[in-house]
Amino acid sequence: MTDTPDCIFCKIASHAIPVDAIYEDDQVIAFNDREPQAPTHLLVIPKQHFATIGAVDAALLRPLLHAAAVLGDRLLPNGHRIAINTGADGGQTVGHVHLHVLGGRQMSWPPG
Ligand code: 5GP
Ligand code: ZN
Repeated sequence: MTDTPDCIFCKIASHAIPVDAIYEDDQVIAFNDREPQAPTHLLVIPKQHFATIGAVDAALLRPLLHAAAVLGDRLLPNGHRIAINTGADGGQTVGHVHLHVLGGRQMSWPPG
Protein backbone atom coordinates (compact mmCIF):
# COMPACT_ATOMS: atom_id res chain seq x y z
CA MET A 1 0.00 0.00 0.00
CA THR A 2 1.46 3.36 -1.01
CA ASP A 3 2.03 5.97 1.65
CA THR A 4 0.73 9.49 1.14
CA PRO A 5 3.89 11.60 1.53
CA ASP A 6 4.21 13.42 4.82
CA CYS A 7 1.19 11.71 6.37
CA ILE A 8 2.16 10.55 9.84
CA PHE A 9 -0.62 7.95 10.00
CA CYS A 10 0.37 6.47 6.62
CA LYS A 11 3.85 6.03 8.06
CA ILE A 12 2.42 4.36 11.15
CA ALA A 13 0.12 2.15 9.03
CA SER A 14 3.04 0.94 6.91
CA HIS A 15 5.33 0.54 9.95
CA ALA A 16 7.74 3.09 8.45
CA ILE A 17 7.41 4.55 11.95
CA PRO A 18 7.48 1.83 14.64
CA VAL A 19 4.08 1.29 16.21
CA ASP A 20 2.92 -0.83 19.12
CA ALA A 21 -0.22 -2.09 17.40
CA ILE A 22 -3.12 -3.06 19.63
CA TYR A 23 -4.91 -4.60 16.66
CA GLU A 24 -3.96 -5.02 13.02
CA ASP A 25 -5.30 -6.69 9.93
CA ASP A 26 -4.84 -6.03 6.22
CA GLN A 27 -7.15 -3.01 6.24
CA VAL A 28 -7.05 -1.54 9.73
CA ILE A 29 -4.55 -0.78 12.49
CA ALA A 30 -5.19 0.41 16.06
CA PHE A 31 -2.66 1.99 18.41
CA ASN A 32 -2.50 4.22 21.46
CA ASP A 33 -2.90 7.97 21.00
CA ARG A 34 0.35 9.74 21.89
CA GLU A 35 -1.54 12.38 23.91
CA PRO A 36 -4.25 10.37 25.63
CA GLN A 37 -7.36 12.31 26.65
CA ALA A 38 -8.64 9.47 28.84
CA PRO A 39 -7.03 6.54 30.71
CA THR A 40 -7.56 4.49 27.56
CA HIS A 41 -7.36 6.35 24.25
CA LEU A 42 -6.89 4.35 21.06
CA LEU A 43 -6.88 5.43 17.46
CA VAL A 44 -8.28 3.09 14.82
CA ILE A 45 -7.31 3.97 11.26
CA PRO A 46 -7.63 2.50 7.79
CA LYS A 47 -4.26 1.60 6.32
CA GLN A 48 -5.30 3.32 3.12
CA HIS A 49 -5.19 7.10 3.20
CA PHE A 50 -8.51 8.94 3.26
CA ALA A 51 -8.70 12.52 4.49
CA THR A 52 -12.09 12.31 6.18
CA ILE A 53 -14.72 9.76 7.10
CA GLY A 54 -16.91 10.92 4.21
CA ALA A 55 -14.20 9.93 1.75
CA VAL A 56 -13.85 6.35 3.03
CA ASP A 57 -15.16 3.55 0.78
CA ALA A 58 -18.44 2.26 2.14
CA ALA A 59 -17.04 -1.28 2.24
CA LEU A 60 -14.21 -0.14 4.50
CA LEU A 61 -16.49 1.57 7.00
CA ARG A 62 -17.66 -1.80 8.26
CA PRO A 63 -14.24 -3.25 9.28
CA LEU A 64 -13.15 0.14 10.58
CA LEU A 65 -16.13 0.62 12.88
CA HIS A 66 -16.17 -3.05 13.75
CA ALA A 67 -12.55 -2.92 14.94
CA ALA A 68 -13.28 0.15 17.07
CA ALA A 69 -16.41 -1.40 18.53
CA VAL A 70 -14.79 -4.76 19.31
CA LEU A 71 -11.74 -3.11 20.90
CA GLY A 72 -13.99 -0.78 22.88
CA ASP A 73 -16.11 -3.67 24.17
CA ARG A 74 -13.04 -5.75 24.98
CA LEU A 75 -10.90 -3.10 26.64
CA LEU A 76 -13.61 -0.87 28.09
CA PRO A 77 -16.57 -3.10 28.97
CA ASN A 78 -17.88 -0.47 31.40
CA GLY A 79 -18.45 1.86 28.47
CA HIS A 80 -16.52 4.04 26.10
CA ARG A 81 -16.88 6.64 23.39
CA ILE A 82 -16.05 6.28 19.70
CA ALA A 83 -15.50 9.68 18.11
CA ILE A 84 -14.57 10.87 14.63
CA ASN A 85 -13.47 14.49 14.45
CA THR A 86 -14.01 15.80 10.94
CA GLY A 87 -12.65 18.98 9.39
CA ALA A 88 -11.58 22.20 11.05
CA ASP A 89 -14.77 22.83 12.99
CA GLY A 90 -14.87 19.18 14.03
CA GLY A 91 -11.43 19.46 15.61
CA GLN A 92 -9.60 17.20 13.15
CA THR A 93 -5.86 17.82 13.34
CA VAL A 94 -4.50 14.82 11.39
CA GLY A 95 -5.66 14.54 7.79
CA HIS A 96 -5.85 10.74 7.72
CA VAL A 97 -9.20 9.54 9.00
CA HIS A 98 -9.13 8.02 12.48
CA LEU A 99 -11.62 6.79 15.05
CA HIS A 100 -10.92 7.69 18.65
CA VAL A 101 -11.87 5.05 21.22
CA LEU A 102 -11.89 6.67 24.65
CA GLY A 103 -12.73 5.36 28.09
CA GLY A 104 -11.65 4.52 31.58
CA ARG A 105 -13.34 7.60 32.99
CA GLN A 106 -16.82 9.09 32.89
CA MET A 107 -17.18 10.84 29.55
CA SER A 108 -18.97 14.18 29.58
CA TRP A 109 -21.63 15.42 27.19
CA PRO A 110 -21.77 17.57 25.18
CA PRO A 111 -18.15 17.36 24.07
CA GLY A 112 -16.35 20.67 23.82
P1 5GP B 1 -7.81 14.64 15.77
O1 5GP B 1 -7.55 15.90 16.54
O2 5GP B 1 -7.36 14.78 14.33
O3 5GP B 1 -9.19 14.09 15.89
O4 5GP B 1 -6.90 13.54 16.44
C1 5GP B 1 -5.57 13.35 16.12
C2 5GP B 1 -4.99 12.53 17.24
O5 5GP B 1 -3.80 11.96 16.79
C3 5GP B 1 -4.67 13.35 18.48
O6 5GP B 1 -5.36 12.81 19.57
C4 5GP B 1 -3.15 13.21 18.61
O7 5GP B 1 -2.74 13.12 19.95
C5 5GP B 1 -2.88 11.94 17.84
N1 5GP B 1 -1.57 11.88 17.20
C6 5GP B 1 -1.03 12.82 16.37
N2 5GP B 1 0.16 12.40 15.92
C7 5GP B 1 0.38 11.19 16.47
C8 5GP B 1 1.46 10.26 16.38
O8 5GP B 1 2.47 10.46 15.70
N3 5GP B 1 1.32 9.10 17.07
C9 5GP B 1 0.23 8.83 17.83
N4 5GP B 1 0.19 7.65 18.47
N5 5GP B 1 -0.81 9.68 17.94
C10 5GP B 1 -0.73 10.85 17.27
ZN1 ZN C 1 -2.31 8.95 5.47
